[in-house]
Amino acid sequence: MELNILTLCYLIASVTFIVGLKMLSHPASARKGNLLAAAGMTIAILGTIFLYKDSEGNGLHNYAWIFAGLLIGGVIGTLAAKKVKMTAMPEMVSLFNGMGGACAALISIVEFNHLVKGYGAHLAAGGGPEFFAVLDKTTLLIILLGLIIGSISFAGSMIAWGKLNGRIKDISFKGQHLVNNLLILLIFGLAAYLLIASPAQTVPFFYAIVVLSLVYGIFFVMPIGGADMPVVISLLNSFTGVAAACGGFLYDNKVMLTGGILVGAAGTLLTILMCKAMNRSLMNVLLGSFGGSAAGGGAAAAASGGTYKEISLSDAATVMSYANKVMIVPGYGLAVAQAQHVCHELEKVLEAKGVDVKYAIHPVAGRMPGHMNVLLAEADVSYEKLLEMEQANDEFKSTDVVLVLGANDVVNPAAKNDPASPIFGMPILEVEEAKTVIVNKRSMKPGYAGIENQLFFQPRTSMLFGDAKKALQDLLAEIKSIG
Ligand code: NDP
Repeated sequence: MELNILTLCYLIASVTFIVGLKMLSHPASARKGNLLAAAGMTIAILGTIFLYKDSEGNGLHNYAWIFAGLLIGGVIGTLAAKKVKMTAMPEMVSLFNGMGGACAALISIVEFNHLVKGYGAHLAAGGGPEFFAVLDKTTLLIILLGLIIGSISFAGSMIAWGKLNGRIKDISFKGQHLVNNLLILLIFGLAAYLLIASPAQTVPFFYAIVVLSLVYGIFFVMPIGGADMPVVISLLNSFTGVAAACGGFLYDNKVMLTGGILVGAAGTLLTILMCKAMNRSLMNVLLGSFGGSAAGGGAAAAASGGTYKEISLSDAATVMSYANKVMIVPGYGLAVAQAQHVCHELEKVLEAKGVDVKYAIHPVAGRMPGHMNVLLAEADVSYEKLLEMEQANDEFKSTDVVLVLGANDVVNPAAKNDPASPIFGMPILEVEEAKTVIVNKRSMKPGYAGIENQLFFQPRTSMLFGDAKKALQDLLAEIKSIG
């Protein structure tokens, strides 16, 4: 490849993607990593707009369209990112991911039309069918892959977005998986026909593939439990990456290829990690409707596992004020209540009293990877105070008080003790090892997995009922009053 300025731009951009991705793996460097990769993307985009030349030496010309698109997209993206609530982040990721899939599919449609036009012109000039030989078939294969994967990713992401914001309910019908399998077979059958037949005869079939892929994307995501959407979004994200990489192949654009492959690989790894941390197979996520209704606000059954005891605010304040070591376990409820700031204040007040306060972070606490890290970072909680699950589990034995704030499944001992439990085998925070456990939530309703939590009935556990923000504010006032 000729080393020109544009190539250099692409090289710099590719390096920033890789380094930026690496930096995302730690909360302290994540923000900078994101900015670095965004800067690389800006270089790649501007480089392409101003420096790209085709084989005949022509550059881009339709600048008005390009900059209008950049402006509209940039404004919408900035506003959406600024306005989005932390709990709605998976929703936004899904929407943006869907747009990526749609772009990849549109690229395929445009390039297919170029291919058909080129072939038509060739025939009109008296050329033979040999023109549409190996090279063009490879191009067509990439076009079809980008089209199918991009369309599925777009339609699936839109359904996931609708499910997460409650506009679309889980819908499944008998034999849906069979219908899905038939659909995908039909799509690949048509794609195979397109590769064999002459492009002039296949245009309607090409658009049939577009429609069928969109339908497949809808049917694929429709039956999956609403609460499993973050895993599905991560999977669809990897699809979009692969579809974008197809665009990179088509245009021989190295940075698009690198970016697409990175997104594809990162999405796949994240999907595997999330499934592992929940101790569920991907098949179980895709075929089951785990936690569907429970996540929507706790319609599932109330607890029935025995008696639990409550703790008063003043008792909770006393036991925490006189503790040597307090471990806070944040969960989804803390994010819902937006109680991260008051939680940080509680930490500071306790530390001022000489209490050692730390946070135990479970990898799938909340509803997206890193949810608790981001939530606590928003309240300026120091990264040094955050313990990963393994470290925290080593420390619970020497902890006086564990304060569980809106967490449920991630502290459920059934994951260790009950082979019949749907979460059996999922690694958990072993909070029951501490001397005292105080659990704050609003009721005895289950969490995401829709199952009862035996922790709440154990002798060392006491319940502090109420919305996390209100409960923490009241607790803070009590602790301050102890002097
Ligand atoms: P859970 O969903 O298990 O429990 C959250 C608890 O918070 C509920 O029991 C609820 O009880 C309580 N709650 C809700 N609102 C409030 C509020 N305003 N104030 C106080 N409490 C509140 O959350 P966890 O974080 O423990 O576990 C996460 C679950 O999500 C796991 O099962 C995980 O597998 C799953 N998951 C995680 C993903 C990720 O990437 N992080 C992705 C997909 C799934 P109540 O209604 O009684 O208040």
